[in-house]
Amino acid sequence: MLNLVLFGPPGAGKGTQSEKIIDKHKLVHLSTGDLLRSEIKAGTELGLQAKTLMDQGILVPDEVVIGMIDNKLKENKEAAGFIFDGFPRTVKQAEALDNLLHSYNEQITVMVALVVDEEELAKRLLLRGATSGRPDDQNVDLIRKRIQEYNEKTTPVADYYRQQGKYVGVDGIGEIDEIFITICNAIDTTA
Ligand code: AMP
Repeated sequence: MLNLVLFGPPGAGKGTQSEKIIDKHKLVHLSTGDLLRSEIKAGTELGLQAKTLMDQGILVPDEVVIGMIDNKLKENKEAAGFIFDGFPRTVKQAEALDNLLHSYNEQITVMVALVVDEEELAKRLLLRGATSGRPDDQNVDLIRKRIQEYNEKTTPVADYYRQQGKYVGVDGIGEIDEIFITICNAIDTTA
């Protein structure tokens, strides 16, 4: 099984690169952001609670996203592997993911981290907000808050995988196809 954590701040290109990786490796895409937005759209209690936090650019509680991932792993036992996009975002989530995968005798193969500076991120997110309809991409203060959440709570996750020898950093600025090739090389040398 190929189990990939695609890591990076909001706007780093995780969604774009996920699609290309999935195409090539036939992985199941697990994006906690997408799963939460589906809950909001469906008007569930979980969605309503998550929306209040997402509208402020704040992370939702670990238990909520861990529960969603747990369900998705159960639903996809026959998968060739998973791509985790926007998850784990805290060390607690990373530990929980390890435990869940171990219960299936599986583990994370590699973390690919897309590296993009803050100014470029803000530019990209505002551009995306003009067409995506995502409210959290349309306000500069909210974008800054999300990047701050990332810097404070999510960057330690990179060290978590670095300590396991599973971290690969990739320059996230440049042509989409060139970045994809670099990611493929990283996967091929570790998988
Ligand atoms: P994203 O689509 O990954 O940019 O996520 C949008 C929003 O959903 C984030 O700003 C968080 O509020 C929430 N979210 C998504 N994934 C997670 C996660 N793994 N942990 C906590 N909150 C999350």
